[in-house]
Amino acid sequence: MIAGGGTAGWTVASALARQLGPLLEIVLVESDQIGIVGVGESTIPTAISFNRLLGIDEREFVRATQASFKLGIEFRDWARVGDRYFHSFGQVGRSTWMADFQHMWLQARENGFGGELGDYCFELQAAEAGKFAIGEKIPLNYAYHLDATAYGQFLRRWSEPLGVQRIEGKIAAIRQVPENGFIEALVLESGQVIPGDLFIDCTGFRGLLIEQTLQTGYEDWTHWLSTDSAIAVQTEPTGPAPPYTKAIAHHAGWRWQIPLQHRVGNGLVFASTHLSDDEAHEMLAAQVEGAMLTEPRVIRYRTGRRRKAWNKNCIAFGLSSGFVEPLESTSIHLIMIGVTRLMQLFPFSGVNESLAQRFNDLSQRELEGIRDFVMLHYRLNEREEDFWRRCREMDIPDSLSERIELFRENALAYQAPDELFRLDSWIQVMLGQRLEPRAYHHFAKMMRPEQLRDALGNIRGNIDQAVAKLPEHQAFLSRFSESPA
Ligand SMILES: Cc1cc2nc3c(=O)[nH]c(=O)nc-3n(C[C@H](O)[C@H](O)[C@H](O)COP(=O)(O)OP(=O)(O)OC[C@H]3O[C@@H](n4cnc5c(N)ncnc54)[C@H](O)[C@@H]3O)c2cc1C
Repeated sequence: MIAGGGTAGWTVASALARQLGPLLEIVLVESDQIGIVGVGESTIPTAISFNRLLGIDEREFVRATQASFKLGIEFRDWARVGDRYFHSFGQVGRSTWMADFQHMWLQARENGFGGELGDYCFELQAAEAGKFAIGEKIPLNYAYHLDATAYGQFLRRWSEPLGVQRIEGKIAAIRQVPENGFIEALVLESGQVIPGDLFIDCTGFRGLLIEQTLQTGYEDWTHWLSTDSAIAVQTEPTGPAPPYTKAIAHHAGWRWQIPLQHRVGNGLVFASTHLSDDEAHEMLAAQVEGAMLTEPRVIRYRTGRRRKAWNKNCIAFGLSSGFVEPLESTSIHLIMIGVTRLMQLFPFSGVNESLAQRFNDLSQRELEGIRDFVMLHYRLNEREEDFWRRCREMDIPDSLSERIELFRENALAYQAPDELFRLDSWIQVMLGQRLEPRAYHHFAKMMRPEQLRDALGNIRGNIDQAVAKLPEHQAFLSRFSESPA
C-alpha cells in the first residue's frame, strides 16, 4: 500500500510493479486536493540506471518529461563573489594505483604549467562548451533535468498497465493494530477502508504515516544546513538550454536555474533568519531571465532525517523520510536507491526487526554522506555576509572535519563504502571552494617536467578533440526528442 502519488509514490510504485509485480498487490492512494510539492527537477546519473531497471525507453522519457541533459552543476559566487567552478559527473584525469590524479596536477601546477583541474575532465569541458551527445566512443556520464509534474504522470501511465491500482481520495485516518501499533488500514474521507500488509509513506513533508501516526521522530540538521525556505517560479527560456544546472550563491543562500525543453525552473533557497519571503520574492523576480509563467511559490522545509525510515510495517520514501536541501539534487536519487534497497530486503515473510534495522542503517549512512558533502559547500566559504560567516564558523560533524583536514594537509580524498559521491566530486568541490592543499604525493617528481607536461597534454588533447566532435546540447536535444523511439 503506497500513500502519496508525488515523485516518491510513483517511483516506488513503478519499480515494485516492474520488478516484483507478480508477487505483490500494489495500491497507491493520492489526493488531487493536496497535490505534490512540484519542484525537484534536477537529477544525478542514477536516474539513467533506474530508467534501465524499469525498461523505460529514453526517447519516450525525454519527450514525456520535457527533459534536458545534465553534465553537472555550475557554482557561481560560492567561496567568493565572482568565483565560478563546476561539479561535473565526470572523472578528472587518470589516477594510478599509487596516487590519484590531483597529485600529478598539483605537481604540474608547482612547476608552472597544468592549467585548471577541470581541463582534464571530459564532462566538465563538454558542459563548458554547451555540448552533449549520447553514444559517443567515450561515453559522457550524465543525468536529466525533468518536469516534476510530467514525471509523476509519466510514471503513473507506465505503472498502471503493470497492475498498480490507483485510488484517488484524501486519507482521513490511519487504523493501527491495538496490540503492536502496526498499521492495518488507511481510511479515506469517503469512508473507504484500504487494508494492507506493508505501508509505504510517500505523503511528503507531512509524513502522515511515519510521523503523524507512528511518531517516529526527526533528527533536525538545521544547525548544520540552515536554509529552511525556497521560493520557486517557472520562466520562459531565453536561449539554448545549457547541459547543466546553475547554483548561484546570494547573501543568504543560493538560487537554482534548471533548463528544460519548454521552460526554465528557478528557485531561491534561503534562510528565513536572513531573508524575508517578500525580500526573497523581490530578489527572485529581479534575477530570473525569462518572463514568469507561474506565480512564485514559497516552500518551507526542515533539513534532517526521520529517525527510522522503516518503522514497524511502514517505510518512508521521499520528503517524508527526510530532506537534505536541494543543492546537489539528491532527493530523487534517494527515492530510487531506497526502493532498490527495499526490493533487495523485501519482507516477504513479514516484517522483522533485523531487516528494518539493516535498511535503516544503510539509509542513514547514505544520507549522512550526502549531508556532509552538501555542508562542504557552505563550510568552505570566504564570503563576508552574516549568513556565510555563520556557515564558516559552525560546528561540523567529525566525519566532515576529518575529510577537510585530510585534503588540506595531504591533498587526499576518498569515497567511503556506501557513499554516493565519488572522489572526483569531493575534489572538484574542495578545490572549487578554495581549499588549498599544503602538500601532495611526490610520485610525479620522478618524471622529468617535460614528461609530466606531455602526459597532461595528451589527456587534455584527447578531451579537446572529443569535445570538438560533440554537437551543441540544444541541437542534440531537439533531434533526440523528435526522433521516433
Ligand atoms: C525547494 C526544493 C527543491 C528541490 N529540488 C530537487 C532537485 O532538484 N532534485 C531532486 O532530486 N529533488 C529535489 N527536491 C526534492 C523533491 O522535490 C522530492 O524528493 C520529490 O518531489 C518527492 O516528493 P514526495 O513525493 O515525497 O512528496 P510530494 O510531492 O509532496 O507528494 C506527496 C503526495 O502525497 C499525497 N498526500 C499527502 N497527504 C495525503 C492525504 N491525506 N491523502 C491522500 N494523499 C495525500 C499528495 O497528494 C501527493 O501525491 C526538492 C525539494 C524542495 C523542497
